[in-house]
Amino acid sequence: MKRIETRLSAPLAGMALLTVGILVAVLFMIAARVDRDALEHEQALVVRGVQSRIVDVERTVLPQVVWDEAVEHLGNRFDAQWARENIGAYLLGQAGFDLIVILDADGRPIFNEQVGQTVTSAYYDRHAPAFAPLVRRLRRDEAQRPRPTGPRADGGLVSRSMQISSIERIDGEAYLVTASLVQPDFGKALVRHARAPVVLTALKLDAVFLEGFSSRFLLAGIHLHAGDASGQAGDAHVPLKDLSGQVVATLDWSPPHPGQRLLRKAVLPILIVVGGLAVAVLVFARRSRKIAEGLVASEARAKHMALHDALTGLPNRVLFEERLRQAIDGLSRRRGAAAVLAIDLDRFKAVNDTHGHAAGDELIQAMAKRLSTLCRVGETVARLGGDEFGVVAVDLEPKGAAALAERLVAALGAPVELSCGTVFVGGSIGVALIDQAEAHLGAVEAARRADVAMYRAKEEGRGRYCFFEAEMDAALKARRGLEADLRQAMDDGGVWLAYQPQVDAVGRVLGVEALARWTHPTKGPISPAAFVPLAEDCGLIDALGQMVMRRAFTDSRRWKDLKVAVNVSALQMKQADFPDQVALLLHETGAVADKIELEITEGALLGDDETTHRAIERLREMGFSLALDDFGTGYSSLSYLRRYPIDKIKIDRSFITPLGEDKEAGAVVAAIVRLAKALRLSVIAEGVETDVQRQQLKDIGCAQAQGFLFSAPVPADKIDALVADGGRVKIEA
Ligand code: C2E
Ligand code: MG
Ligand code: MG
Repeated sequence: MKRIETRLSAPLAGMALLTVGILVAVLFMIAARVDRDALEHEQALVVRGVQSRIVDVERTVLPQVVWDEAVEHLGNRFDAQWARENIGAYLLGQAGFDLIVILDADGRPIFNEQVGQTVTSAYYDRHAPAFAPLVRRLRRDEAQRPRPTGPRADGGLVSRSMQISSIERIDGEAYLVTASLVQPDFGKALVRHARAPVVLTALKLDAVFLEGFSSRFLLAGIHLHAGDASGQAGDAHVPLKDLSGQVVATLDWSPPHPGQRLLRKAVLPILIVVGGLAVAVLVFARRSRKIAEGLVASEARAKHMALHDALTGLPNRVLFEERLRQAIDGLSRRRGAAAVLAIDLDRFKAVNDTHGHAAGDELIQAMAKRLSTLCRVGETVARLGGDEFGVVAVDLEPKGAAALAERLVAALGAPVELSCGTVFVGGSIGVALIDQAEAHLGAVEAARRADVAMYRAKEEGRGRYCFFEAEMDAALKARRGLEADLRQAMDDGGVWLAYQPQVDAVGRVLGVEALARWTHPTKGPISPAAFVPLAEDCGLIDALGQMVMRRAFTDSRRWKDLKVAVNVSALQMKQADFPDQVALLLHETGAVADKIELEITEGALLGDDETTHRAIERLREMGFSLALDDFGTGYSSLSYLRRYPIDKIKIDRSFITPLGEDKEAGAVVAAIVRLAKALRLSVIAEGVETDVQRQQLKDIGCAQAQGFLFSAPVPADKIDALVADGGRVKIEA
């Protein structure tokens, strides 16, 4: 499950992360690019600003130096007074320069004035190195240019400006220094010396200068650093260089970060987008995980359902056969044999029919639990359908298989507590052992053998186990054939009724018991003790029972003074609609219920359930009387006699046969007769064959008897004759 989850969500999360990563990276790259462009733009502006400031400064100085009067007063004949008024006062006072020095033709300072104070030539000498490169350059230019020789005819200007400017350091501070050559403007005065005077001006790059810059170019936090500060991170820089290219100072300011501003503005939306994406990915991953989990779970469920029984959760037939196959295939690697056990509950149908399907389900679940707890790990307990179970065990010797089967039979035979009450069902088990030599037979044959053995266990009386033996196959085959024959016989009248008289002490016939007879076309007469259970097993008992009742009810109408006893199988009794069936037959045949006695065995009363009580109640209400057949052979059974409205008990032949030979037998029969009388029940002895038995029964006080001594079961016409003859059998005195 986890694997599917990661298989689905990992690429999604990866894709989302990659997308977000790329987005963020692109944004950062754009921001950096924008910042760099903005910085370069501002730097270019500042560089141009510095240049235009230089041009401004030179223009300010120009009128004072390209002037015939300046040539006259500064060059040809130095007039300090004039210099102070026209150069010093104007440039220092009005134009705002910080320092003025005028050099003569030999480069000596002849005028040297600083703002607010007159400076000495010594001062100039100290700073001469700052001016020297400019002066040298100016002198070179001067030497290369022809001097005006007089006024021009058109009265125009005779000189072109000759100025050199640069940023220089003076007293540790940066100055914009300009060297301007004094020249005539209209040529009225001409420089008479080999060289013209030079006016040096210096403008300090101070706060005022920076402010002008700042407001002009909208630069935030601009300031000036001495020396080269362009290495400092964070700020924008423009280095200011002297003439030799040396950095004198650095202008720096807070660089514009439009890109970063953009980024900052974009952060929130980005975060929202990323968050949204993350949530979307999460939701998607979760959903896909749920879908995947659902798929895996339903696949597992489907797989489980395909291989397990829904009611008990046990493996089903498919898985059972697979395990059996594995067990047989694995025989070559193991020591012992593989055992397959076929288990069938004995009276499941009765519980299901009597208490309903819910009780049947409950019973199956309880039995499944018992079987599971008794089997070891490695043994497979499966529900094969209905009330059939199967077990596959490996590494077993015959002894071990028998022990296992015994344990299971005991467990199935114990009473089961259901919501509707306690029931006794029991189970029959067939065991097939397959050893290495028989491995070639395969799983299907192994399972079939276990089934055959299970049928044998049923035949032998149920609630037991049988190992498969080869002769069982033949027996089973014969049984299958017999089933088919019985079906046929019931269809074509091969099954008929014999009646056996029941007499009193003096031989008067009080009633007859209807006994089913089947004469097989090749096998001859077959006992009902054999074919009735066969009919029960193969689902023919209802049809057989109905046929017997129809016949007996019809015959009873001819024998007005006789009671006709009809045997009713326990399976028939447990049918919820049994009383309805009987009522319908009464109606159909026109018989009178008073003349009919239903013989039931204790098996029919087992379970002591509501349906049985109700059925018996209804049958009694209709007028039937009830006899408890084979009394003494079952669970014996005082409680049944008290709980159910029984009219008569029939003492089983096994108690009658020893009479006269075995004293104790007489005592038992006497006890039963006393019990019947105490409970006000009538009593009849079955299987009376000898006069000794008859006599002893008479002595004990058993008033009624049935047996070969009086008459064997005979066809109905014999009873007709008997009735016509007075309804008596002959009794030896
Ligand atoms: P059951 O109801 O106990 O019937 C009495 C059985 O004892 C009959 O055997 C009868 O022939 C036999 N019998 C009677 N007198 C003597 C005797 O003196 N000596 C000996 N040895 N046997 C005697 P049958 O007819 O073979 O029936 C066997 C059982 O089959 C019956 O025992 C009854 O339980 C069942 N059965 C017979 N017919 C029907 C039927 O129509 N429906 C049902 N559900 N069961 C039937
Ligand atoms: Mg009977
Ligand atoms: Mg009997």
